[in-house]
Amino acid sequence: MTDSPASDLTDLWRIALGEIEISVSKAHFATWFKQAALSRREEDLMVVTVANIFTREWLENKYHQVILAALQRVDPTIQRIRYEVGMQGTTLLRRTYPSGETILTKRPSTPQPASEPLQETPRKNEQRWDADSNLNARYTFETFIVGAHNELAHACAQAVARRPGEAYNPLFLYGGVGLGKTHLVQAIGNAVIARGSRRIRYVTSEKFMHELITAIQTRMQHTFKDRYRAVDILIIDDVQFLAGKEKTQEELFHTFNELHGAGKQLIFSSDRPPKAIATLEERLRSRFEGGMIADIGTPDIETRIAILRAKCILREVNISEQILSYIAAQVATNIRELEGCLNRVLAYFELQGTVPDLERTKELLSHLVRQPKRATVHTDRVLDAVSSHYHLNLDDLMGKSRRKQIVLPRQVAMYLLRSENQFSFPAIGAIFGGRDHTTAMHACGKVGDNLEKDEILRQDIVAIRQKLYVTAE
Ligand code: ADP
Ligand code: MG
Repeated sequence: MTDSPASDLTDLWRIALGEIEISVSKAHFATWFKQAALSRREEDLMVVTVANIFTREWLENKYHQVILAALQRVDPTIQRIRYEVGMQGTTLLRRTYPSGETILTKRPSTPQPASEPLQETPRKNEQRWDADSNLNARYTFETFIVGAHNELAHACAQAVARRPGEAYNPLFLYGGVGLGKTHLVQAIGNAVIARGSRRIRYVTSEKFMHELITAIQTRMQHTFKDRYRAVDILIIDDVQFLAGKEKTQEELFHTFNELHGAGKQLIFSSDRPPKAIATLEERLRSRFEGGMIADIGTPDIETRIAILRAKCILREVNISEQILSYIAAQVATNIRELEGCLNRVLAYFELQGTVPDLERTKELLSHLVRQPKRATVHTDRVLDAVSSHYHLNLDDLMGKSRRKQIVLPRQVAMYLLRSENQFSFPAIGAIFGGRDHTTAMHACGKVGDNLEKDEILRQDIVAIRQKLYVTAE
């Protein structure tokens, strides 16, 4: 039963498509199925040919079961499907934008054998990463939008870029996930490099730690020391991960002193202020606090629209204000996710070859955008997020201990169950081993009151909320 005649395959596919059409949304059907075809059969395997890799990935990852079921309804002997990229009127062009992002776009087809791989333009972003400094050239001040939420951090970063080692030393930036910390600290490095200096090193705190461990294991500590002490600017991203890593903290402390003493610039980022990093050695904390500390908050809607607009300009795409406002309204607390939504919308319309419209945008994002706040977060997720944030185990959090280090996280968990899920006080009491509802009431009231005056608590809650709502990539 090899290679059915083409007309059989066409009929088979037409019937299957009829089934598929009723089980997926109109927009998705038009995007992913219209240009696919059955090209051949090999025993119990059907080969579906699609126009580009992008479609192949979607069909494989999202629609495989739907397609297989539809085909099997027509012919139960079909057991497997393979998706292949072939010519269906268009090919894809990989475009790399000045921002460094890559998007696959349609281009008119030229005759090509079906099996020839897609032609790609050179992937420029691979060259945009600088091996010496470890910086990514896409993160610049020019592409960074300033709003009320990051004004101070941006001003400090610019001052440091203008006069490294003199303005604020160290500079410590903190803020939640996806809000521009990495972009900003790297923009400082790139600005200095643009003026000709080369002795800059950017690392994440994890990389710093791993390099140190390797150096110790291979007895190459002196090489490690030389590498980090020979720079004019040292940027360490996400230093909250150093919590509890004593040896690394000690090494960083010495590196810090050496560089600082020699008038070199140090820049750190973290998801919370130094005070709120648990188990950070006091002497390192005081170093972090010894210069300028600036926070990055969440952008307001106008800034979010401005960021989206800027990204569109960089990509040379035209998209209506109405659509940008819609996207901006969907994602409030994470610029990376905001960009993700824009990318999806642009990729869809570019593939379709049509002008973006609001209705389709809504349909597209309805599958992808979470509704934070309104949606109920699974109770376990809240408890896990709180215990991991405070480095506690779940049993302690749920237990009876009255120790201060446990009571506060427990109250925070109660507060979050109420604020995120609108649970009743008796329900919260029940979750915590049948405690009285007045305990839950007291906890929520206390955390709510303290939030106003306690910056660390506020940061803790921002960080935990972000954990709750960050979607798995
Ligand atoms: P963080 O390090 O705080 O988690 P990033 O710096 O990685 O966040 O930022 C996430 C994404 O959002 C990046 O692609 C970055 O370029 C973009 N971004 C963040 N803030 C801005 C801004 N103010 N203007 C333009 N793009 C931004
Ligand atoms: Mg980052």
